[in-house]
Amino acid sequence: PNAHKVVILGGGAGGIAVAASLLKRQAGMDIAIVEPSEQHSYQPGWTMVGGGIFTPESTRRSMSTVMPKGVHWYRESVVGIDADAHEVTLGDGRKLRYERLVVAIGLELDWAAIEGLEETLGKNGVTSNYRYDLAPYTWQLVQSLRSGRALFTQPPMPIKCAGAPQKAMYLSCDHWQREDVLGQLEVTFHNAGGVMFGVPAYVPALEEAVKGYGIEVQFHQRLIAVDGEAQTARFEVAAAEEGGEPQIVEQSFDMLHVVPPQKAPALIKDSGLANAAGWLELEPETLQHITHPDIFGLGDISGTSNAKTAAAVRKQAPVVVENLLATLAGDSLAVGYRGYGSCPLTVENGRIVLAEFGYGGELQPTFPKWLNDGTRPTRLAWQLKARGLPFIYWNLMLKGHEWLARPASRDV
Ligand code: FAD
Repeated sequence: PNAHKVVILGGGAGGIAVAASLLKRQAGMDIAIVEPSEQHSYQPGWTMVGGGIFTPESTRRSMSTVMPKGVHWYRESVVGIDADAHEVTLGDGRKLRYERLVVAIGLELDWAAIEGLEETLGKNGVTSNYRYDLAPYTWQLVQSLRSGRALFTQPPMPIKCAGAPQKAMYLSCDHWQREDVLGQLEVTFHNAGGVMFGVPAYVPALEEAVKGYGIEVQFHQRLIAVDGEAQTARFEVAAAEEGGEPQIVEQSFDMLHVVPPQKAPALIKDSGLANAAGWLELEPETLQHITHPDIFGLGDISGTSNAKTAAAVRKQAPVVVENLLATLAGDSLAVGYRGYGSCPLTVENGRIVLAEFGYGGELQPTFPKWLNDGTRPTRLAWQLKARGLPFIYWNLMLKGHEWLARPASRDV
């Protein structure tokens, strides 16, 4: 097999950030990235595409332009990891041997888990900001809808960017309000969970938005089937008491924004690297694999309890890199990740609730409260989302510039 010092699986946010940052520290290092896609997407921008604020093209670049110079790029999927042999197998049968492995293959969107959904996506008023090609359809639907019923769904956790299902809803309602048609529309949020957001500090601002737009919220309702032509959605309603039978309800719609259920790729479990739920089992602070010290991981594939966001990746990448280099040098792991993740909640076009929090729901705001109160909608946070964050993503994070993501020292 071909051998590399570091093999990185996945060339998304996590894979590219780690490669760039390794090369910043050790120019010329022998790094391979395994990534089948010819395109690299800034997925946080898709919410803005669905709201008519960004063009789809602005959220996507060809993979070759973000691949750091000097990296060996294998344009293949990884299909197997043999952690004991320190080898991975590619889709074309080739094997790569590694000294250190970084797993950053993201998560899988499980569209097929909802009966009838795949065949109607992109037509009959059924859309999702979770796909590059569908986010523009969201905006098209929002512009054309003047009366009727709009449904927005949220699947069970964990999902990437937990706020994205309701962000789509608020931006849509904001447009309908500006067009003076919101009063003719019935808007419902069908949430498989039982709360608006997992961190209580941000809930009051979201409840205000819900109330302001006149949205009806249905908790414990999980989308299970869609009939596109008939424009009906079927939900399973969890029983109120334990042991009770769930109920099935049907709702007709004119527009349906779906966020699909999300899961870890089977590859992780099949390779013996997963926790009970199938996610990559990492030590939460060092991001080193629990049983295989030559394996690190980051991003959506990780079983750590942080919010699955690109913001988390920004803080995780330098931790992975410094600790990985420490293991190569025979040093102890000196830096730690405190679970930072961020979810800019677009409660309206022009204002955002900038949720920033770490492990255990600890608030970890970047700005002092007088400049930006993260629990309230602010214009500054909107400017950050609309201008600052895309710049930071493409030009800092993917290039290995880390002055916004200095890792904390561990007490060792
Ligand atoms: P990804 O960036 O998804 O990359 C995974 C890569 O692995 C892909 O390139 C894929 O092709 C590759 N891959 C998959 N399988 C294999 C395989 N078998 N072999 C090799 N390669 C493979 N984050 C925020 O911070 N703020 C937001 O506001 C925000 N909003 C979002 C809104 C939407 C609609 C979506 C979809 C996401 C949003 N996110 C947001 C989440 C953010 O995009 C992800 O958390 C981030 O991209 C995770 O990075 P990753 O590297 O783990 O995965």
